[in-house]
Amino acid sequence: MNDMKHINIALFVPHMGCPNQCSFCNQKSISGQAKQINADDVKSAVNTALEGRDCAQAEIAFFGGSFTAIDRDYMISLLEAASEFIRVGQVKGIRVSTRPDCIDEEVLGILKSYGVTAIELGCQSMDDGVLRANLRGHDAQAVVRASGLIKSKGFELGLQMMTGLYMSDSTKDIETAEKIIELSPDTVRIYPTVVLEGTMLCDKYTAGEYRVQTLEEGVELCSKLLLMFHNADIPVIRLGLHSGGNVEEGFVAGVYHPAFRELCESRIYLDKIKEKLVGIPYGEIEITVGTKFISQLTGQKKTNLKHLEEMGYRCSVVQNPAFKKYELTIIPKG
Ligand code: SF4
Repeated sequence: MNDMKHINIALFVPHMGCPNQCSFCNQKSISGQAKQINADDVKSAVNTALEGRDCAQAEIAFFGGSFTAIDRDYMISLLEAASEFIRVGQVKGIRVSTRPDCIDEEVLGILKSYGVTAIELGCQSMDDGVLRANLRGHDAQAVVRASGLIKSKGFELGLQMMTGLYMSDSTKDIETAEKIIELSPDTVRIYPTVVLEGTMLCDKYTAGEYRVQTLEEGVELCSKLLLMFHNADIPVIRLGLHSGGNVEEGFVAGVYHPAFRELCESRIYLDKIKEKLVGIPYGEIEITVGTKFISQLTGQKKTNLKHLEEMGYRCSVVQNPAFKKYELTIIPKG
């Protein structure tokens, strides 16, 4: 996936009347405010996105989490509106996100016929105990089954996971990432858990039965996950919740930072530098890094350089355009 040229024309499809009660979801408490989009909304959103831009590489994205579980006629009306743009070559394809237990051959056939190219599954965890505790209503095997079916029909597969859910821990979250890697998705999204008002997690948190991760713990865990997916050559197309929307409004607690990914990228660089510093005497050092990655190496407000200085290393940074992501060398100076 080419990040530079990639545009998602994102449309939020709330699942009115969803029978599930996932611990983190506030759709029931906000359903009065969420607008139910219709085919005309799809057309006008895409037309607005097309104004003055070449969107031939863009995708229309129906997000919300349960696209294939919404009323069937309604789902088809949205797909029909979107597919018109694909037929005339104005838009490349359609992405949808849904639950793993809402995928079968029949619905995949419908999605294919309207030009859906990518399907993202909210798996959240691959630990059955965590899935049960968070009332997801499906098990890990459902993710394995749905992923296989999606890939066998030639769709791009995206998998979404959450970290720090109720009854989970870093070990279980890392195991979830390992199991996701085994499924060879084309893309991954990682969402640290955020406690929103009107959710089961909020009740547990208020009652002192659920401890949320600190930002520092979230960065430490998610930087490991990011590196795991990088090493497996699986692009992480989102890390951390988007700012805006109902996150800030209903936010009670949890790992949330508007530049969360940058924090994690910088942590990976810091860890790599520390690995390479073993055996290098304190004093001046020169770090060489890829030109595009200097800010990740130095960290926000130069936190990584300050951290290294506190350890006893004064750093100068040199750029090398040939260096790949996370590649770096260190030489002692003087
Ligand atoms: S996250 Fe769970 S409860 Fe919320 S809409 Fe999706 S399936 Fe329903």
